[in-house]
Amino acid sequence: MPVEFTSDHEIFRDSVKKFIEKEIRPFAETWEIQGRTPRSLWKKCGEMGFLGISYPDSVGGMGADFLYNYIFAEEMAKCGSPGVATGFAVQTDMATPALAEHGNPLLIENFLKPAISGDMICSIAVTEPGCGSDVAGVQTRAVLDGNDYVINGQKTFITNGTQADFITLLARTNDKPGHHCFSLFVVPTKISGFSVGKVLRKISHLSSDTAEIVLQDVRVPKNHLIGQEGEGFIYQMEQFQFERLAGMANAIGMMKRGYELTKKYVSMRETFGKPLVERQVVQHKLADMYAEIILIETLALRCVELAQKKENFSKLVTVLKLKGAQAKIRVLEECVQLHGGYGLMHEYEVARLYRDSKLAGIGGGANEIMLEIIAKMEGLIPKKSSSSLNYAKQVEKSVVAN
Ligand SMILES: Cc1cc2nc3c(=O)[nH]c(=O)nc-3n(C[C@H](O)[C@H](O)[C@H](O)COP(=O)(O)OP(=O)(O)OC[C@H]3O[C@@H](n4cnc5c(N)ncnc54)[C@H](O)[C@@H]3O)c2cc1C
Repeated sequence: MPVEFTSDHEIFRDSVKKFIEKEIRPFAETWEIQGRTPRSLWKKCGEMGFLGISYPDSVGGMGADFLYNYIFAEEMAKCGSPGVATGFAVQTDMATPALAEHGNPLLIENFLKPAISGDMICSIAVTEPGCGSDVAGVQTRAVLDGNDYVINGQKTFITNGTQADFITLLARTNDKPGHHCFSLFVVPTKISGFSVGKVLRKISHLSSDTAEIVLQDVRVPKNHLIGQEGEGFIYQMEQFQFERLAGMANAIGMMKRGYELTKKYVSMRETFGKPLVERQVVQHKLADMYAEIILIETLALRCVELAQKKENFSKLVTVLKLKGAQAKIRVLEECVQLHGGYGLMHEYEVARLYRDSKLAGIGGGANEIMLEIIAKMEGLIPKKSSSSLNYAKQVEKSVVAN
């Protein structure tokens, strides 16, 4: 049975839209200028249940199916400032899934529940100055010393980095070859040895804060380890499909918003004595955008369907991530083109959507990494070549969080 949006899903969508119109859109411009989304919005989203949509009631979630999560991600992307949506996606789909699945009762009580209620903000910390796509190069190290792990290292490009109350951190716990040398930890940020380094200035996602993080002899109790030591990569693998799916729901939201704004604009804007929309070339451009959006949406909903059935959808979601990121750039560039010079003005939302479209092809696994995974899954990388095989395996591991 293909997934269907029921009337309950649509009621939920309306409640997200109303929330956005009241609590986000009027302030989006200010937050773009301030370079961050205020902490109070996390609390408001928590009170609405938006930060734990698919998490069980027992941890404060809504216990709803993944389609609700998808709707939230899509609608948030239309809020007037995609950076806001990114900050929340990190909280709901990147920094907490492994914690929810494998965290011990203490971590659930002290970190997951407050993240779902909006009392705490969190980040995922994987990328380092020396490695992004190649996560196997992570150098941050956690060493067991008595009842504590002592952590040293540096992370970069960390979303919510200046505001986070805790980070979910990937660190090396041994040097054995293979998958089992990394572990995931919950690291509170108000702790000796933890500091926020440079706050990074970006050209996109301006309402989302991004920072470097430094860990110098940070001690966390042993029970801040998520699940088993050495299984950090595996846990990330379990969640990366959902992370990419949520990211693409976000891309679909941005494309739909750009398309709607452009449809309105070309109906109103006249050149050479008639509205732009009366020209066939403009109608066809819009039809082409619509076709791209529907293609990506259909693929995304198929992934949701497989996810609901608990079937493996890693290949399909990799294709979705690649094609969705490419479509996003094409669609939003065309939106700007049809707005002419106004499309490059800050006060036009399409400018912001276009500017923020680039990240999808880099974060969450760059397009080239998606191609590498597809090539591997299609058997295009010769099996006899052990180095390429290892490389492909490494690539697959590497995109777990990035
Ligand atoms: C705004 C923003 C927010 C982010 N938020 C977070 C966060 O919250 N937490 C976190 O941990 N990280 C975060 N990141 C980091 C992000 O995941 C990485 O930037 C991404 O994984 C790419 O890593 P890199 O930048 O080191 O690029 P590199 O790995 O250095 O790669 C550079 C480019 O080379 C190409 N490339 C790489 N490998 C290959 C290959 N094997 N074959 C062919 N081409 C290749 C790709 O085009 C890639 O874009 C964020 C980044 C940005 C920009």
